[in-house]
Amino acid sequence: MPNLLYDRLFAPHETSAKPFLILPDGREIAYRDFLATTARFAHALRACGVGVGDRVAVQVKKSPEALAVYAACVMAGAIFLPLNTAYTASEVAYFVGDAQARLLVCDPASSDSLDPVARDAGARLMTLDAAGTGSFADLAADQADRFEPADRSAGDLAAFLYTSGTTGRSKGAMLTQDNLLSNAESLVDYWRFTESDVLLHALPIFHTHGLFVATNVILLAGGSMIFLPGPDLDLMFAAMPRATSMMGVPTFYTRLLGDARLTREAVAHMRLFISGSAPLLAETHADFESRTGHRILERYGMTETNMNTSNPYDGERRAGTVGFPLPGVDLRVADAETGKVLETGEIGVLEVKGRNVFKGYWNMPEKTAEEFRADGYFITGDLGVIDADGYVSIVGRAKDLIISGGYNIYPKEIELALDEAPGVNESAVIGVPHPDFGEGVIAVVVPKAGAAPDEAALMEAIAPGLARFKQPKRIFLADELPRNTMGKVQKNLLRDQYKAVFT
Ligand code: ATP
Ligand code: MG
Repeated sequence: MPNLLYDRLFAPHETSAKPFLILPDGREIAYRDFLATTARFAHALRACGVGVGDRVAVQVKKSPEALAVYAACVMAGAIFLPLNTAYTASEVAYFVGDAQARLLVCDPASSDSLDPVARDAGARLMTLDAAGTGSFADLAADQADRFEPADRSAGDLAAFLYTSGTTGRSKGAMLTQDNLLSNAESLVDYWRFTESDVLLHALPIFHTHGLFVATNVILLAGGSMIFLPGPDLDLMFAAMPRATSMMGVPTFYTRLLGDARLTREAVAHMRLFISGSAPLLAETHADFESRTGHRILERYGMTETNMNTSNPYDGERRAGTVGFPLPGVDLRVADAETGKVLETGEIGVLEVKGRNVFKGYWNMPEKTAEEFRADGYFITGDLGVIDADGYVSIVGRAKDLIISGGYNIYPKEIELALDEAPGVNESAVIGVPHPDFGEGVIAVVVPKAGAAPDEAALMEAIAPGLARFKQPKRIFLADELPRNTMGKVQKNLLRDQYKAVFT
């Protein structure tokens, strides 16, 4: 039966002997073998009672089989719901309950703690480990390796992807087949992916970056992926001579830069390095170029919208910006309060519209209604600005905007100034409760190795370029900034840690 996403991403490879996944131990999994596993898994889903439109929650370690669960969900018309492997049983309970999952597939090591979770939610529990074995694989073993794909079309739901929870409780973004397919099509084209591409894949597969951006692009282009369990530097350097491209979060790049093996020769076979999911410092961009000759291509997206903007493949990849709206994505900057569309150069909230934009938050009709304008634009919650050349820059999240003494203060501007100051590696600027100003600006600074900048010297260094009201009232040193797996700075944790500074 017709199944748009399956037919476009997977079906063309059903008989292909080409490697789809290349594993660190040298094992290669051909497309046709991956798709035979997919078909067996699709039968196993049905055997677990999963019907078309049912949710399949999956919290398993990264493996080829874990990816085949995604493919099997597409094939069987089930809604794939991947979960961060770091979530505890009580967190998983929220997602499984909220999404009313029919099946929960977990690592065997967590089956004891998740058994009651599944039972309470009325979901069946099956296991799958990093080696691809477990009760789910056992159930699939005897199944046929062909499966008639479920009838699914553009507007049907393919996944519930929960947001990272950086600014509050994760929300379940309902993504349709067309949301995923249209974005993969744009990206293959924009980033020039072809069947000769070999993508170095070291990202997790429970997040949009490693799952949809990376995997769907490679499937659509018909390329291969060197599939690493995580960003292990030894494995990454070992993979580079065969890889052509890499998608990473900024921390991948800072870690690579911290390793003496990063040279022009080491990356001689690579054509493209892409960064996203969190802001890439202009300094990282510059350092990477001087070490390797490569200008990292930065793009911007979110769980709800897939990818929205990208620096150009051929044109200037401008550090500190996220490039231009992708073809098919309408992007504008608006006043967060009034919704009035702003001019070039004015900071406001980024709003996007296009086939890439999700259908709404699961079970949250009011929240969904709040986040869309009447003319269909989705309010991203990111603050940004478009310059005269059309490049979009992100200046932070609306929720991180500081209002002190009635002034709007954009943390990014102060962070950029601090990052330039002597002895500073990176910084995070936040607002915390202040008895006179409402919020007071403070900065948390991570010194460069061996440096110990003091508060007064830092204040002095940034003062000339920043109006008085923007200058932090206090600067604290820290060994590192709290980050999640995707390299996002968790400002909510910092706000909590420093909440009593002025009170
Ligand atoms: P939550 O919505 O639950 O608070 P989250 O927004 O961090 O979590 P994701 O959907 O994983 O969850 O992340 C999307 C966000 O990541 C964007 O809204 C943006 O703030 C940030 N982001 C992604 N790419 C970039 C980039 N290149 N530069 C700056 N920020 C980026
Ligand atoms: Mg978000």
